[in-house]
This record gives sequence, structure tokens and C-alpha cells, in this order.
Amino acid sequence: MIDFRSDTVTQPCAKMRDAMANAVVGDDVYGDDPTVNELENWTAKRHGFEAALFCSSGTQANLLALMSHCQRGDEYLCGQQAHNYKFEGGGAAVLGSIQPQPIENEKDGSLSLEKLARAIKPDDPHFARTTLISIENTINGKVLPLDYLSSLKAFAEHHQLKLHLDGARVYNAATALDVDITEIVQHFDSMTICLSKGLGAPIGSLLLGSSELIKQARRWRKVLGGGMRQAGILCAAAKIALTDNIAKLKVDHRNAKYLAEQINAIDGFEVNLNQVATNMVFVKVAEHIDIAVLAEALKVKGILIAPNRYMRLVTHLGIDQSAIDSFITELKTLSRQ
Ligand SMILES: *Cc1c(COP(=O)(O)O)cnc(C)c1O
Repeated sequence: MIDFRSDTVTQPCAKMRDAMANAVVGDDVYGDDPTVNELENWTAKRHGFEAALFCSSGTQANLLALMSHCQRGDEYLCGQQAHNYKFEGGGAAVLGSIQPQPIENEKDGSLSLEKLARAIKPDDPHFARTTLISIENTINGKVLPLDYLSSLKAFAEHHQLKLHLDGARVYNAATALDVDITEIVQHFDSMTICLSKGLGAPIGSLLLGSSELIKQARRWRKVLGGGMRQAGILCAAAKIALTDNIAKLKVDHRNAKYLAEQINAIDGFEVNLNQVATNMVFVKVAEHIDIAVLAEALKVKGILIAPNRYMRLVTHLGIDQSAIDSFITELKTLSRQ
């Protein structure tokens, strides 16, 4: 299958499967798994944080960050479009007694500092305590500019707020900006990285932060049922994702540009080419095209898309230029019918 639905569909390569089969493991709840320990220590150092924690998913890593930064009755400021507000089942409120205070994202995905300032609550028992700002990069495939990140950091310091980065796809941002990852992450008190998206590991995300924050997060992870035992099997694949696959994101971005140009040239499909910055292409599909029918017809041809009027297509390790060419050929034929 050629699968454009998400970069989460990437499959572990042979090298990962070998490393998983041969990983030296132990019981990580006792701190005994050398492969987990090595990955956590190595990633912390690589990204300039004191400590790291291997988590089962990005949703869990974000929740642990929120629960470790915030107490019951605190709130975090985030975007209306933020994954950890909109797409994580309300976990912070449900499980952490933490109130989200969403703010409309600007067109470029950022949060306006003026709007953030207006949302910060005074120290008064009427209000939840504003504790944290959480932002996302990339957000819907868009990359936040570096100068925005430094002004956000200064803003957070001025207001004595902590700053969290949902960096599920932060390596896509670093790739698009052509900077070392530390240029982006130096501004944050904590961050997450998804290993199971474009980086191609089968399972897992990392949470990074201070030793104290990670100590808290490790405790909450156990409470939430995320204390995994011989997790080194997963971390062996994760290490390869972080060493071998980051450089390949460039190819995904190039393929996304190519896909965007090709699809934009077809009647009834429109892409804002200036907005294709990373591995995502957003396509406006004309009203006269029945997207559900189109998706079904493509599926018969071995191509998967998420059928939406404003359709997201994602490039990843499982999609090369010839896969895009096959898709475009099918799309031309099917959308004419
Ligand atoms: C995918 C994603 C997550 C959650 O990751 P899961 O591993 O799917 O739980 C969090 N934030 C962003 C921005 C994501 O894209």
C-alpha cells in the first residue's frame, strides 16, 4: 500500500529489527535496562537537557510534561490547534486536574504574545494558576521561526512561566531551517520527540527536561500504567531512528514539494505551494469531487488517503517519487470520472 495518511505508518527497517532482536535488556522499572538507560542519557545530552524519559507515545509524553510542570488547579496556555489540547482526549484536564487555556493560533501556527499576555491570570482565587506555555513545532507542517522562539522564551521568563515544546516533529523543523536541533530546543524547559513518525521507529516518544522534572514524570508514568519492563527492545529501534533517519527527513520534504506541485496541477485540487515547508501537503478539494468515493477508488488501487475536503497528505520513509507518480496518475484518471 502507498499510504499518505500519516508518517506514523512507517515500518521498522531490517536494521531496527536486528537491533531489537539483539538488544541487551533488563527491567526498566528497576532502572535495570541498559539499552533504555543508554538512550535516555544519550538523548538528554544530545539535546542539552539534564534528563530524558522513554514514553509509550507522544500523548503520554505530553501528558507527563503537563502533569509534572503543573499542579491540580493550574492551567497551561496553548493553541486551539495544539495536539495536546485538541487531540489527546483532554488528558490534562481528565487525569491531571489541569485546565487548558487555548488561544487562537496565528496563521503561521505561532501564539501571539499579546494574546498570551491577555490570557495570563492574576494571582486571585477566582482563577486557575497560569503556570506553563505549551507550543508545537512543527504545527500542521509549519515551522516556527527561530526569532519567534527566542521572543517567546523572553516572554515566558518575564511572566515566570515554564515553556514546553510539543516537538513530535521537531526534527522536521530543524531540517527545514537547516539548523542543529539545539538551536530550536535551547529555549524550552521541556520537550517531547516522537520516534514513531517520520523517524521510523515502531513505538515511542521521548520527554526531556530537568532531572527534577523527569523524576516527577517517571513517577506519573508509572501511575498511568506506562512503567514498561524490557523496553530496551523499543529503545534499540529508537536509537537507530535518531542516528540513521534524521538525515532522511530532507527527502520527505523534497517529496512533499514534488507531490504538492503535481497535485496542484490537477483540476479540482488546490495547494498553497508557499505553505509546503516540511512533510505535509494540505489540499483543497473542489466541491464537485466526492472525496469518500475517491478515497475508496484509490484504496482499490493500493493507495490510502484520509478523505477530507481540506485533505492532509504526508510523505515519509514509505513514499518515494515513483509512489507519488503512481498516485498522481490514478488521481488524474479518477477525478475526471
Ligand atoms: C502525533 C503527535 C502527538 C502524539 O503522539 P502519539 O504517539 O500519536 O500519541 C503529539 N503531538 C503532535 C504534534 C503530534 O503530531
